[in-house]
Amino acid sequence: MSSVEEARWERRAVIDLDAIGHNVRHVADLVAPAMVMAVVKADGYGHGALPVARTALESGATWLGVAHVSEALALREAGISAPMLAWLHTPGTDFAAAVESHVDLGISGWELEHVAAAARAAEQPARVHLKIDTGLGRNGATLEAWPDVLAAASQLQEEGLIRVVGVWTHLAVADEPDRPQTDHQLEAFRAAISAAEEAGFELELKHAANTPAALSRPDAHFDMVRLGLGMYGLSPFRDQDHEALSLRPAMTLSARVANAKEVPADQGVSYGLTYRTHSATTLALIPLGYADGVPRVAVDGPVQIAGQRHVSCGRVAMDQFVVDVGQVPARELVGTEAVLFGAHGPTATEWADAAGTINYEMVTRIGSRVPRVYTGEAAETVAAGEERHG
Ligand SMILES: *Cc1c(COP(=O)(O)O)cnc(C)c1O
Repeated sequence: MSSVEEARWERRAVIDLDAIGHNVRHVADLVAPAMVMAVVKADGYGHGALPVARTALESGATWLGVAHVSEALALREAGISAPMLAWLHTPGTDFAAAVESHVDLGISGWELEHVAAAARAAEQPARVHLKIDTGLGRNGATLEAWPDVLAAASQLQEEGLIRVVGVWTHLAVADEPDRPQTDHQLEAFRAAISAAEEAGFELELKHAANTPAALSRPDAHFDMVRLGLGMYGLSPFRDQDHEALSLRPAMTLSARVANAKEVPADQGVSYGLTYRTHSATTLALIPLGYADGVPRVAVDGPVQIAGQRHVSCGRVAMDQFVVDVGQVPARELVGTEAVLFGAHGPTATEWADAAGTINYEMVTRIGSRVPRVYTGEAAETVAAGEERHG
């Protein structure tokens, strides 16, 4: 950060790329010899897909994963040449661009004919990972449809239009290790792999694990884990925080106090006047609102100001919310940094609890009005990369 940025910032999400690097290295060590696919969908869970992708690839990840082909193409355009998988398509997906850009495709079944047409046009085979739905009920072929999908894929592979490089699935309850369904899903997955091998496919990549399975289920690692949340330094588990998992939160969300004033008891606060001061106190105005991703439904969201923890009071508005800071002189407050969550102080998980959601959503929903500022030694390498790639 330059000293000008340091002096002039108003609100920001500081992204510590060294934390991302640490988290990737940590999980890569844990799951070796399985590989790590860094999942950078949804703009890297709000952290910035490109800098996260570059950092992850420099820190031991060998694959990138995204939901949309368009997300993969944006990374390719930025000069990222690492293997990449995209898995959520519609008939409007640009499969031809994916094939031409060497983006692997996760396939449930219906996509095969579109992919074959794209491969024919591009005059090169599409690389596909066939997905089996082992219980999540979202994408993937059902167990019943699996033989037909294998037969159709086999035909297209013989025609030289696709290459089946992998078989994969996604887990439903890996964040709750006590539930038996993960065992059932892995059993079904192993059966689907056997069926694919019996159908003649030579599978380079079998993959099933998301962050919670990467951290808690070695038997789910197979050839690769798909690491999202953990790379950003957040815990997927209820009963274990990031520290217990040796992870470092990468995003710190903060703003400078925009106004502060001393008010008497019974002062109503924010729309609806749902909060009233209990006694004479000081109110601090935080210039972040639901347009910036602070959930309107949050109650008692934690905010750290000058090392002291407080909580939000009254409704979160579009651009701002209020903190009752008690007996703090107002004149010292304007311009002070108020930290909502980050590596030090309150966590994204606490805000998620305050809003009845999960930490995944807290970081992903931070709006475009909040500048991302990259720190850490990795930020310099990544910035150098940006210049190289224009
Ligand atoms: C988002 C996603 C992941 C990453 O999950 P985390 O729990 O964040 O690690 C892995 N696989 C698929 C299919 C996903 O959609």
